[in-house]
Amino acid sequence: MTWRASVLTLFPGMFPGPLGQSLAGRALETSVWSLDAINIRDFAHDRHRTVDDTPFGGGAGMVLRPDIVDAAVASVDDSRPIICLTPRGRRFSQDDARRFAAGPGLILLCGRYEGIDQRVIDARQMQEISIGDYVLSGGELAALVLLDATVRLLPGVMGAADSAVEESFSHGLLEYPHYTRPAEWQGRAVPEVLLSGHHAAVAAWRQAEAERITRERRPDLWAEAASRQHAASAAS
Ligand code: SAH
Repeated sequence: MTWRASVLTLFPGMFPGPLGQSLAGRALETSVWSLDAINIRDFAHDRHRTVDDTPFGGGAGMVLRPDIVDAAVASVDDSRPIICLTPRGRRFSQDDARRFAAGPGLILLCGRYEGIDQRVIDARQMQEISIGDYVLSGGELAALVLLDATVRLLPGVMGAADSAVEESFSHGLLEYPHYTRPAEWQGRAVPEVLLSGHHAAVAAWRQAEAERITRERRPDLWAEAASRQHAASAAS
């Protein structure tokens, strides 16, 4: 079964964009997933194809009209979750990507200008999602980020079946560092243990590095991982 993404946007030419390349691009060609970009402007009903208007209450910028956005949503609506990309949303995470990949697909609504009339977001029970604490000029790049992280988890997209199991965030830790040939480069040697052929020692070194890097760089993740460990050992 093909995992289906429908993106509602004023700039359909931005899709598939980078998702037409590499792993996601090949998976698109082989119908592991599908992507249709729907132009919100096609649902405008006046001669000028107007999609936005000035905000009630005053202030700068323009707001996408609820009736136009709703008509665009209605054209694709089925059982799939509807995501509204917005800096006000819950922060997107690896857990979301896993959950979305396990479902039938997504409908993604990209805002522009000041944003979207809140009533259509509420009426269609959209999930409001942000990709981080900064403001983009539109939701399209956010949709591409969310889709990239999700699509690579679909069965058959990544090369090695288990390459998603070990990576950053999968166990609540950042990943250990990687090394390849040459074994010495510009006077820098690869950590000795990785050349030892001793699998248990390699695994122990990688685990220790993952813990060290998480502790140093992301004390927030480290605290979460530690409390999960606590709960697990208390339960057993
Ligand atoms: N006035 C809004 C920002 C509008 S930016 C505010 O202050 O919250 C225009 C559009 O870009 C938004 O409607 C949203 O769809 C998208 N966007 C901007 N930053 C984003 C982010 N961090 N995550 C997801 N979408 C974002």
